[in-house]
Parts: sequence; C-alpha cells; structure tokens
Amino acid sequence: MQHQTLPKASQESLVNQMKCLVKEDLNKDGLSLRNDMLEPTVGVGEVKIRVLATAVCGTDKSIYGSSRSVGIRNEMQRYLSAGQYSPIVVGHEFCGIVEEVGPGVKAEHVNVPQELLIEVGDYVTAEMHLSCGHCHLCRTGNEHICTMVKVKGLHLDGCFAQHVVVPYKNVIQLGKNGDTSQIPTKIGAMLDAFGNAVHTVQEADVAGKSVAILGAGPLGLMATFLCRAFGATRIYLTEAADVDRRFGLAREFGADSCIDVSKGSADLHRQVEKFETGSNGVDVVLEMSGSLPAYDDAFRIVRNGGQVVLLGLAREPLKNFDIANGVIWKGVTVKGIFGRKMFATWETMLSLIRSDRLDLKSKLDRVLAAKVYALDEYEEAFETLARGTELKLVFSPGNKK
Ligand SMILES: [Zn+2]
Ligand SMILES: [Zn+2]
Repeated sequence: MQHQTLPKASQESLVNQMKCLVKEDLNKDGLSLRNDMLEPTVGVGEVKIRVLATAVCGTDKSIYGSSRSVGIRNEMQRYLSAGQYSPIVVGHEFCGIVEEVGPGVKAEHVNVPQELLIEVGDYVTAEMHLSCGHCHLCRTGNEHICTMVKVKGLHLDGCFAQHVVVPYKNVIQLGKNGDTSQIPTKIGAMLDAFGNAVHTVQEADVAGKSVAILGAGPLGLMATFLCRAFGATRIYLTEAADVDRRFGLAREFGADSCIDVSKGSADLHRQVEKFETGSNGVDVVLEMSGSLPAYDDAFRIVRNGGQVVLLGLAREPLKNFDIANGVIWKGVTVKGIFGRKMFATWETMLSLIRSDRLDLKSKLDRVLAAKVYALDEYEEAFETLARGTELKLVFSPGNKK
C-alpha cells in the first residue's frame, strides 16, 4: 500500500477532526460518539496510526456501564485526584496503518535493519500498556507489572477512533508496507486479548496435564484451543451463561468436559472426581471468569501441589476465602496474570498465528461476530454484547453506518 504525502495546505485541512468514542462522565453509563475531537499529533518517539479495526473487550463493557462499577471508576481516576476526570477516547485493542513516525525515532534507529523498523505504511498493532521504563520492575524484565503502568483507553486516549498515537517502542509489526495477507484485520484487532490467553496458558505448563478452565468467554475459549495445542491431556471447561453455543464451540476447540455451573458446581466436582483418579484434583486451574464462586471452585478442584493461574478480575474482594485449606495445606502455586509480557508474549503469539499448523486464525475468527460494526453503531454493538448474542466484536472506524 502506497502512502502519499499530501501537500501541506490540504494536510492541515484534513488532520483536524476525527470520529471517536469518548467516555464523558464516569457516573453516567454509555459512551459518546464525537466527530469533533482533534486528531492526536505525534510527539518525540511516537507513532501515529490510522485505525483499521478495533475490538471491544470486557474492560470496555465495564467502562460502558461505569455507573455500576466502582472498580472501573477508581481505576480510570488512578492518576488523578478525585473529581479531576477529563473525558478520554476509550478502546485498547486495534490494528492499523502507520501514518507518521515522530521526531527522534529515525536518529535512534540508524543501524536497525529495515525489516525491523516501523515505517509509514506498515500494518501494525500495539501494546497499549505503557510502562515507565525506569522502575525496579521495568529494569528487571517485569514491565507488564510496572507500578506506574498507564493503559491507553483507560488512563489515556485509546483506539475507538480513526487515529491513535503510541510510543514507537510499543508498536508491533504485523506486515511491512500494509501487507494484511498474513493476519486479517479482524484478527489483528484482537491480539491484545489473545495475548492475555497466551500469557495465562504459558504460565501454567499444561503439557501432559489435566486443566480446568473456569469461564467460557472469549478468553476461556481461546485458552481451550491453546491448552489443546500445548498438549493438555484433559480439558474441563465451566460456564454459567449461554452454555449451548459456547460449549458447542469449546468442544470443537478441544474441551473434553463442558460443565454448566449456573446452578452450582456439584457437577464440576463430580466430573473431576470421576476422571482424576490418581490424585485429589486437576493439575492446573485457569480462572478466566472473574465470577466469585469460581475462586472457591478453583481451590477446591486443584490437586495438592497443583497450579492455579488467575486472569479473571473479581468485582469485589473475596470474603471467607479459606487460604489454609485452599492453598497452604495443598501446597498450591498461585499466579496472577496482568496483560502480556513485554514483549515475550507478543513474540509467542505472532509465531503461533503465523504458523499454519494450529489453524489459530480461523479459531480466533469464530470467537468474533461475523458483522464488523461502524463506530456510529456503537450502541447496537454494546447492546449485542450485553445480551450475550455475540461474545466479542470489532469496529471499523473507517466504515460508514
Ligand atoms: Zn482488553
Ligand atoms: Zn516501571
């Protein structure tokens, strides 16, 4: 794809305003469609990207319904004093085409081979967690849990917009010169979410192990086909809503036992008892739902010496959690997962997707709604997700309604 530089005069008339979805007021539900926001401008070491596709995730749903979530309101004001909120563009999962590379980048990358450079016209995505780069964690290979991390679309302007600006370092190359043939844009838009699933499954060492995945949302479904690909011996999957469709997909993705927990978890315990005859539970539990009863299940079904990996975000603190019986006497290893490792997880997921062996692109596509929405259709899109008619969907900010 050729990128043409416009004459200065027309450039100025075009770069002014863009369409985007903004969270105006944390105490009111919904988002606002704006046509009058100024396009972001690149600063030193930054890259401006024209958004081709942007995916909606659970965090965006919480932001949409912010009046009901103290957690999300507090998080969005984390770096501000109370009452200081000013509207931001929401969204953090996207892919697009590089429009402009800011000052300073070229000078810093003189000897870098061209295939590694991010240049105007390249097809890219980005890690939207911006770490400080200087704290103890950042300096010891733990940037993903930097205590000063700022998330675009949560603390800073995000990508439910026609254009977004990100630090050069955070840009991930998907195809030189706008080549989208290896990774379709719908998939390019959801790599952030896929990365959460990859990070979770990789932390657990599932090869040759039995695994229980709690929650069959988009991430639980992705974890299912990843565990199958990574050599899990038996996969249990639980869900409480829309079970017929989700379990149908999950079985195709490789789940062995799909258990409806809408009326409690007796069935789950029976299944685990039936198949895990050599020990007192499953080797690995991946908690991907954030639902409160699931935490109880996780530590009851894990075997002594097993692993529990926690990705789902509990909406409130756990009460009456039995740490002695659930963790200590069982010798369980517990690991929390936040975001993607920078940038090890990205390297892993890109090689997984680029490899045709695992058929991951078509599996990821099946988690997404067939329809691609225009930004103007955001109300319909969020209602569709709230109703559970679709699990995950993508906007194309360039599309008209
Ligand atoms: Zn997300
Ligand atoms: Zn840091």
